[in-house]
Amino acid sequence: MTEPAKVSMEKLVSLCQRRGFIFPSSEIYGGLSSCWDYGPLGVELKQNIKQAWWRAVVQERDDMVGLDASILMHPQVWIASGHLNQFTDPLVECKSCHLRWRADELKDNSCPSCGGELTEPHLFNLMFKTFMGPIEEEANVVYLRPETAQGMFVNFQNIVNTTRKRLPFGIAQIGKAFRNEITTGNFIFRSREFEQMEIEFFVKPGTDEEWFNYWLEERLNWYVNLGIKKENLQLRQHTKGELAHYALKCYDIDYLFPMGWAELEGVANRGDFDLVQHASSSGKSLAYLDEETKQHIVPYIIEPSAGVDRSVLAFLCDAYDEEPDKEEIRVLLRLHPTLAPIKVAILPLSRKEPLVQLANQVYADLRPCWMVQYDDTQSIGRRYRRQDEIGTPFCVTVDFQSLEDNQATIRERDTMNQIRVPISELKNTLQAKLEGEDLFVLPPGGQIWKEG
Ligand code: ATP
Repeated sequence: MTEPAKVSMEKLVSLCQRRGFIFPSSEIYGGLSSCWDYGPLGVELKQNIKQAWWRAVVQERDDMVGLDASILMHPQVWIASGHLNQFTDPLVECKSCHLRWRADELKDNSCPSCGGELTEPHLFNLMFKTFMGPIEEEANVVYLRPETAQGMFVNFQNIVNTTRKRLPFGIAQIGKAFRNEITTGNFIFRSREFEQMEIEFFVKPGTDEEWFNYWLEERLNWYVNLGIKKENLQLRQHTKGELAHYALKCYDIDYLFPMGWAELEGVANRGDFDLVQHASSSGKSLAYLDEETKQHIVPYIIEPSAGVDRSVLAFLCDAYDEEPDKEEIRVLLRLHPTLAPIKVAILPLSRKEPLVQLANQVYADLRPCWMVQYDDTQSIGRRYRRQDEIGTPFCVTVDFQSLEDNQATIRERDTMNQIRVPISELKNTLQAKLEGEDLFVLPPGGQIWKEG
């Protein structure tokens, strides 16, 4: 058995609310169940995760293009995709307290809340419905997309025609998805409005197995390269019984969340299901002309589908750490510098002039490069702790000696080691350290410094 995560969900939720990562939606009205708002730090973390994904799967690759399709789509999409009939969960209701549950998640046939008798299960469609235009009638029903994937399938031909991409190639998209989940919970793990980062990778039939294995490894490595501990990730193959209607094969990448192992990302071999369905439903050919054989083929699709919010949760859980520090406990987020919401904090040792002027100058110089915070309240020790708790990799301290020698101290979050460097070298030095250079590789005039 692997050790449970170091942080409980309660601790993490409390840190997220206290420090401005994540708030309940519409909190002043008592919150809206299973919807969350990302605060000033949360939005930075989320943005950094999305940017790291986009960079890895679109920018750095020659075989991938991006897309941003609309959330509302033609209703026929959901008939062809099978969502209207098959995107359902078995719902049961307690006859005493009337709470509703997902039958496949219950241990026995009684209500988990009051022990009451449950109704027979009926299939509940998870898609949110709304109306297009001013008349609320059945003919005007549209759905909030429950996945971003369909936007990429229906644009397959547009992409082939406009980008000259040849198989194998992929389309990548980040966007909101909505599911009217029966049971939600575990903070941002399962919500009704969430964000996905999805790839649809089109390959020649017969090469699909190879590409499936390739993407499984790529995606696992992406999490590990951004700091997730290998032992907290595992692969789980879907049994025949749990495979989605479109999938030939599927693996979940599970993460050891505080509540146990649960899906972080799914990698599926969707075969030719989606293109065949949309071609027959729309009457438009979605076949691809193979230039080698001069034959029309329907590509197979490998789909790595990740959740942004579940990634936020996994990166936070994995980064959370506590260690004894004198009489107190130091709480820190060991976030990868690429993901840290704030990269550098400027901490003047005093609020007196002319120190403040110099600290403000340093702040103004560094702000165009990264998200930088300025903090001049309370003792320096407390300010370091505050930055540790939000995962800021480096603090720059400007002190009275700085006025004489034009040097400032850089303190590293994880080791608390410090170096002192000329202010003129700050930007380049911080850049190098954020890219992974050892703290003790010193710029001209730099020196190893003692713990303050
Ligand atoms: P689960 O079995 O947990 O309901 P799923 O298998 O239905 O998830 P997929 O349809 O494979 O999920 O969606 C791809 C990814 O989107 C998931 O791996 C997850 O990261 C994310 N995701 C799906 N549903 C939710 C949700 N309700 N809240 C947050 N993220 C979600």
